[in-house]
Amino acid sequence: MFIPISKPIIEKEETAGVNKVLKSGMLAQGQQVAELEKKFAQYCGTKYAIAVSSGTAAIHAALYALGIRAGDEVITTPFTFVATANPILMQGAKVVFADISEEDFNLDPQAVIPKITPRTRAILPVDLYGQIYSYPALKKIAQQHKLKIIEDACQAIGATYKDKKAGNFGDAAAFSLYATKNIMSGEGGLVTTNNTNVAELCRRFRHHGQSEKTRYQYWDLGYNYRLTDLAAAIALAQLRKAERFNHKRRVHAQKLMRGLSEIKGIILPQVKKGYTHVFHQFTIRVTKNYKLKRDTLIAYLQNHQIGCGIYYPKPLHLHPHFKRLGYRPQDFPVAEKMAREVLALPVHPALTAQNLNYIIQTIKSA
Ligand SMILES: *Cc1c(COP(=O)(O)O)cnc(C)c1O
Repeated sequence: MFIPISKPIIEKEETAGVNKVLKSGMLAQGQQVAELEKKFAQYCGTKYAIAVSSGTAAIHAALYALGIRAGDEVITTPFTFVATANPILMQGAKVVFADISEEDFNLDPQAVIPKITPRTRAILPVDLYGQIYSYPALKKIAQQHKLKIIEDACQAIGATYKDKKAGNFGDAAAFSLYATKNIMSGEGGLVTTNNTNVAELCRRFRHHGQSEKTRYQYWDLGYNYRLTDLAAAIALAQLRKAERFNHKRRVHAQKLMRGLSEIKGIILPQVKKGYTHVFHQFTIRVTKNYKLKRDTLIAYLQNHQIGCGIYYPKPLHLHPHFKRLGYRPQDFPVAEKMAREVLALPVHPALTAQNLNYIIQTIKSA
């Protein structure tokens, strides 16, 4: 049987939650969304959580609420999902990429500094693969230059650094409830923040620019970015299991690390000291010292019914709508090298001990 790279877990709680909403006859944003926002903020330890229709909408709303407008510049990583950077363009602002470091595949603070101009307004790092970005160094830079930080926490629900959960490391953070994420509702997202004004602006933004108190008074351009109560009911059931799911991912990752240690040319994921990783992805590096080419290994795994993924095969600056901004191959050598080396193996909570042993044995005998 094929072992997929990800698999949503849908149990009786999710079904019961959706049925209850269907029977109530109120399907759009309502009580379930309000309850999800309360529970999500409690879970993350933030003052506010604002539910929206996707992680992309969450990043867009956060940028809007932090005042990012046309002509502003936002610095981000080219080694991420496109939805990290697209909302910057959606606000009419300029995407400025900086290279990443090999240790955590994420923005290198030393590469960020030379990218700062008088127009820079914010930095947008990603808690990539489920591990919180190393914020301390970046925070100093942001303070010096009076820049906002937006945390793309779409892959990192429940991850911690020094007992603080993802969602607390910037002026606002964005989460996704897309079907493959650690907890999901098919589609959906949330913004977290400790700032009352930012929370209010996000609520307005998702609701056509209306404040939720006075309808048909449009304060500014807004979107329809609301989450449905149907999706919120699924997310509420999932949120109650977040710790269990994440624990399983961690246990699976530990098994893979033990089983795959000491293979020449394979670099295993690094968990930074003081951080807990929630392993949205278990990403190894297949370096040139490994006996096979990465693509040969992928074909071999697929022939053996093991799904795997490349996150991400091509850095963002090499795609047409960013290339237009003047980027070229070799602009970000580390991101480009990582794109050639990374390979994600299944780590999701639905894997059995047998699955994990099979994955390990299959790779060892490649
Ligand atoms: C999933 C994801 C998003 C976007 O989430 P959607 O809910 O799919 O819009 C943004 N950034 C990262 C890093 C993601 O993994």
